[in-house]
Amino acid sequence: MTNLLRRSHIRLPLLLLATLLTVVGLATLWEFELEGYAMHWLGLHYDGDFEDGERLRFILTSSSFSLIALIVPSIVLKRMVSNTQKIHHRLLRLQLQTEQLANFDPLSGLTNRRVFMETLRKQLAQQAPVALLLIDLDHFKAINDEHGHSVGDATLIEAARRLQNIANQHQGTAVRLGGDEFCLLFLDQKGQSELSQIAQKTIACLSAPMPGLPTSARLGATIGVARSWIDSQDPSVLLHYADTAMYRGKDSGRSTFNFYDSEYEQERLAQQDLELALSRAVEREEIVPFYQPIVALPSQTVVGYEILARWMKADGTMGMPADFIPILERLGLIPDMTRSLVKQACQAASLWDDTLHLSLNVSAAMITDESFPDRLLDQLRQENFPFDRFEVEITEEALVGNLEAAQRNLSKLHAYGIVVALDDFGIGYSGLYHLTRLSIDKIKIDRSFFEAGKLEHLPMVEAILGMARSLKMSVTAEGIENFHLPYLPAWLAQNGCHYAQGYLYGRPQAAGDVVLARQSFPSPT
Ligand code: C2E
Ligand code: CA
Ligand code: CA
Repeated sequence: MTNLLRRSHIRLPLLLLATLLTVVGLATLWEFELEGYAMHWLGLHYDGDFEDGERLRFILTSSSFSLIALIVPSIVLKRMVSNTQKIHHRLLRLQLQTEQLANFDPLSGLTNRRVFMETLRKQLAQQAPVALLLIDLDHFKAINDEHGHSVGDATLIEAARRLQNIANQHQGTAVRLGGDEFCLLFLDQKGQSELSQIAQKTIACLSAPMPGLPTSARLGATIGVARSWIDSQDPSVLLHYADTAMYRGKDSGRSTFNFYDSEYEQERLAQQDLELALSRAVEREEIVPFYQPIVALPSQTVVGYEILARWMKADGTMGMPADFIPILERLGLIPDMTRSLVKQACQAASLWDDTLHLSLNVSAAMITDESFPDRLLDQLRQENFPFDRFEVEITEEALVGNLEAAQRNLSKLHAYGIVVALDDFGIGYSGLYHLTRLSIDKIKIDRSFFEAGKLEHLPMVEAILGMARSLKMSVTAEGIENFHLPYLPAWLAQNGCHYAQGYLYGRPQAAGDVVLARQSFPSPT
């Protein structure tokens, strides 16, 4: 159509010229040859006695009139042709734009998600190979937030250009899936090492400095790889697998790539199930306090219990703190668990001897949380549990992160009569700094000092006891077991240790198993 229009546009003057020449030719032929024959044939009088000048004037006049008669329709025709041409061009442009919009991402110019999914479906329907490298830019959100959206857009365009180059080098297609998520699509069965090389190259390319960004603001990329001939022939499953592999990289520190690995995925799903089960367990109070007795020395009379969390699972098994406390910490559920333990423990203890103490392990995040002391005090008031029978145990690690906040919180608890104990003393920082600056009332010597066959630690224990005496702090020795008999409890008592705790006096036990009356143990001597 365009060619036709263009050609007609060019030939219009030619057509005009040809018509003019024809008219002049015909008029000449008529005047000099045909007129006589025609008149004669019509039986009309014709003398043919004209001068050449007259004949030429006729030719000129008739040709001029014909020309004038031709020019006007030609101009109109020319206008019409040019208008049609303009409309046609506009239509073509619109058609191109529509195609562009339908198939390509408007910002980056890369193939868009729709075309990508269509290609994926077609290819997999024919059981032809597909390899996907799903690419998520690292730190892109920070670039957008810190440098504005126009810099963000320019960065995406540059990233797309680099990806297009890589795709061209390896006979692939670069796709923008949306936001800062891209994909390199390969429709041939590339080997693991080639795909690894492409992934490495892509990360290096996208991590190189970007124009318009300060060199400190490095981009990066995390990539997940899925292959139809190994992982799945289903388009959405394959894409999901690439996504899963990509998230594995995000979890393990970014700017890395992973192939989809079904075993890893199983483990991850199991972990997710565990997290879900644990958060339900906290809600449903399936995490319960167990109680381990603490005895006074030298009497070895039970003076209190340490609250130790246990997960009573629906299948009748019991989960230990080492298995679930770190997960709850990651999920931010330790405060909820602690609150529930305090509630259950105070209610259980209300049935016991009213001089017994309760001791609670407090995590690092909680001890530095400004709202912790008031919440604990409120809860104890609500449960009607006297402050001076309550203890909190904290580790030195918990203090290091935010010493000032810990200091404020511990002082407040101490001021209300709550005993503050430094747990696992001797294995962490054991800095005198912490002991003297913080409101610590009690030290719990870590059980590793009393391990079987490690009597060489006793001088160290003696030194800790001496120090605690000088600082007017009481001391609990942890991990006292049967094999320590007959000497250790007596030795500890003689050296000024106030309390002992360990399997010798009792393992952590459920509320129902805690002996109600005060219990004391026979003197070892
Ligand atoms: P921890 O505070 O040092 O608690 C003492 C741990 O030593 C307990 O393990 C206890 O069962 C064990 N133990 C007590 N006596 C002996 C003994 O004579 N020999 C040996 N070998 N072990 C003994 P458990 O209950 O598994 O708790 C482990 C850790 O989990 C605790 O160490 C504490 O750091 C943490 N934890 C337990 N419950 C809670 C809780 O409610 N909140 C927080 N934040 N942490 C908790
Ligand atoms: Ca403890
Ligand atoms: Ca301890």
